[in-house]
Amino acid sequence: MSQKHKAIEIADDLKRADEIKVCCTTCPQECVITVQLKRGVLDRVAGEGCKRGKKFAQKEMTTPERTLTSTVMVTCGGKAALLPVKTAAPIPKKAMTLAMDVIRKTKLIGPCQMGDVVIANICGTGVDVVACRSIKEENHAC
Ligand code: SF4
Repeated sequence: MSQKHKAIEIADDLKRADEIKVCCTTCPQECVITVQLKRGVLDRVAGEGCKRGKKFAQKEMTTPERTLTSTVMVTCGGKAALLPVKTAAPIPKKAMTLAMDVIRKTKLIGPCQMGDVVIANICGTGVDVVACRSIKEENHAC
């Protein structure tokens, strides 16, 4: 499946390439999509298994985003535990390094509930980092 595209502003670091392969992460199919560029402008997309892949490829060429997962140190009942956290929505890949610095420096006092906002609006992305599980005092590493 391939189709002509209207001019899309490509991210600066990709403009010199003629062809880029991206792996669509939208569903478990993981289609490898080929994006062809002509003089820094998106020309053709091929290899996508469905319409969502085309959208994903265009996003990858302009403002790629990913969900960030990590852990945060929590002290609860005098004991330390690692709390799994993730961004509540994908954030720009450009913000990943800075976001990881913020997460790495974050320390919490428990208890906390799954879904609690651990860091609000991380790096000004408008996206919160949330707890992926609960930590209670009686079983701090639940
Ligand atoms: S292109 Fe469609 S079928 Fe292929 S991985 Fe993306 S969402 Fe799934």
